[in-house]
Amino acid sequence: MLKSMKDITLNWIKEKAAVGEYLLSEHVIRFLMGGKISVQEIENALSNGNVIEVHQNPMRGNCSLVLGYSGEKPVHVMCADAKNNRLAILFAYIPCPPIWENPENRSKSGVNRMNERFGKCFFCGGEIKEITVGNFDYRFEGQLYVIKKVPAGLCQQCGEKYISSDTARKINMKVGTGAYSGTENVYVLEYE
Ligand SMILES: [Zn+2]
Repeated sequence: MLKSMKDITLNWIKEKAAVGEYLLSEHVIRFLMGGKISVQEIENALSNGNVIEVHQNPMRGNCSLVLGYSGEKPVHVMCADAKNNRLAILFAYIPCPPIWENPENRSKSGVNRMNERFGKCFFCGGEIKEITVGNFDYRFEGQLYVIKKVPAGLCQQCGEKYISSDTARKINMKVGTGAYSGTENVYVLEYE
């Protein structure tokens, strides 16, 4: 059996988290920037956590969903083997309704409901809700673009956003014709 298809053990996760041998996905960075979760909360949760679900993923191998606590705050951390002797933290969030009835259990009612347009989240299998995103930002060749009031699907669990093909075509058309309404200032944070 390939190493990647084996479940990663809780001990391995705890070891890697304790010595800082882990990598964070862009998903997690978005949550950190949004102030939804902190690195300390993720580390605290991994230090005392337990695996509550194992998800099979053909590309990433098996991923383990860890529930731990940072003080009183429940934190879910999705962990995988990054294949370079490091732990990959795919996403981290505070479990809450409607997906989670409580930190240990998913809501029964949410299990079979599926959004017709978007289906379930490709990354985590969470439920996708249709929303209008006030600011949908993306970067292209170093330039930041902000698209206002975009109809999108938002994963209620991990925060991934999806847009439909119709929406994508309309955005594409507007970009193609240079139909920009203005420019805005952005906050820049220098890491070094
Ligand atoms: Zn998701």
